[in-house]
Amino acid sequence: MARIVMKFGGTSVADLDRIHTVARHVKREVDAGNEVAVVVSAMSGKTNELVGWVQGMPKVTGAGSPFYDAREYDSVVASGEQVTSGLLAIALQSMGVNARSWQGWQIPIRTDNAHGAARILDIPGDDIVRRMGEGQVAVVAGFQGIGPDNRIATLGRGGSDTSAVAIAAAVQADRCDIYTDVDGVYTTDPRIEPKARRLRQIAFEEMLELASLGAKVLQVRSVELAMVHKVRMFVRSSFEDPDAPGMGDPVNPPGTLICDEEEIVEQEVVTGIAYAKDEAQISLRRVADRPGVSAAIFGPLAEERINVDMIVQNISEDGSKTDMTFTVPSGDADKAIKVLEGVKDQVGFDVIQHESGLVKVSVIGIGMRSHAGVAASAFRALADKGINIKAITTSEIKISILIDGAYAELAVRTLHSVYGLDKT
Ligand code: ADP
Ligand code: ASP
Ligand code: MG
Repeated sequence: MARIVMKFGGTSVADLDRIHTVARHVKREVDAGNEVAVVVSAMSGKTNELVGWVQGMPKVTGAGSPFYDAREYDSVVASGEQVTSGLLAIALQSMGVNARSWQGWQIPIRTDNAHGAARILDIPGDDIVRRMGEGQVAVVAGFQGIGPDNRIATLGRGGSDTSAVAIAAAVQADRCDIYTDVDGVYTTDPRIEPKARRLRQIAFEEMLELASLGAKVLQVRSVELAMVHKVRMFVRSSFEDPDAPGMGDPVNPPGTLICDEEEIVEQEVVTGIAYAKDEAQISLRRVADRPGVSAAIFGPLAEERINVDMIVQNISEDGSKTDMTFTVPSGDADKAIKVLEGVKDQVGFDVIQHESGLVKVSVIGIGMRSHAGVAASAFRALADKGINIKAITTSEIKISILIDGAYAELAVRTLHSVYGLDKT
């Protein structure tokens, strides 16, 4: 017997038929004698629709955000998960499984006050554990909790993954199974590279990089939490027949295990390729090359919560002026330029140049720590395809390369093949 948290994403609960299939997956685990809690997302497309409704409302001035009150945004967008949690509880009951739905505030999943992007602070697991012991399945609405202001707070897009891992940590589950529309974590997004291979295992650190650098298969925060609390996560498919052989394997269910580095038997040099679209590059030309300049540029951007990523500073040719180039999400480019124009006198630059529609492609693998020449092969392969590199950043276990958006898929496929990741 094991204690399992099962999470089902939007496509897995997209309609009543799929909710019925999800209920069969849950019933399989319950019938095997496991203690089970479930976390659900909204039906696919629902959260986008709800966000669109909020954004379509008239602008309210003085509401905290330029358009709307973030607490009311949360109240609207959290409703999608309320529907699916109730529907799944009904489906389970109709199959004879004792089940009850729970909204975030009823548990209560306590969060901070950052409405729209709240972080979970605490989940009392005792009541869920007691109910599990009595054979009841808690079906918890993902993506939401309750803030210190006593109002619903949502966890940022894709946040149901984080709800699931946090509940798994709170009830000390043996496993957290993330059911989705792919049967595991692949060497790259299988939607853009059909030759992508499913990984049997991936280390927390690599998964964290993969997710942060664009692979949206898991919310970044969920991987961080799993790493800290040592929650064993499996990414697996809800579209397979719930009763197919091996689906209920108590140790190695089909899918990808995300685990500690030490558990990984055969470590490859490169594990995966991720890409993030819609990056913009901003260059400040002829910036004064003196102490305090970087703080004068990036301080005001941070205050406006603009996420700056790759930063490149040229060597100063004359010892007094240099160029500073960095990237931000395309959606923040205009705001960033406005902020920088506002501090032009303090920073002291000639002109701002910018380019949108760029893509960041990243090569990830903990094996890179002990292998030389990994970056050089990427640069050579991209050069052979005539792809120009606009900026590069590296860390111990990743190389990120900024290129023109038109070459995104070619670059991903090229790198995938260069590092021997293609399926044979
Ligand atoms: P859910 O609605 O179940 O949360 P998501 O759409 O958030 O599902 O995540 C699953 C999707 O992630 C897949 O359909 C796939 O296109 C995408 N994806 C991106 N990178 C990867 C990867 N490396 N491995 C698997 N899936 C990936
Ligand atoms: N429904 C939410 C979203 O679409 C949360 C989730 O699916 O994880 O972002
Ligand atoms: Mg998701």
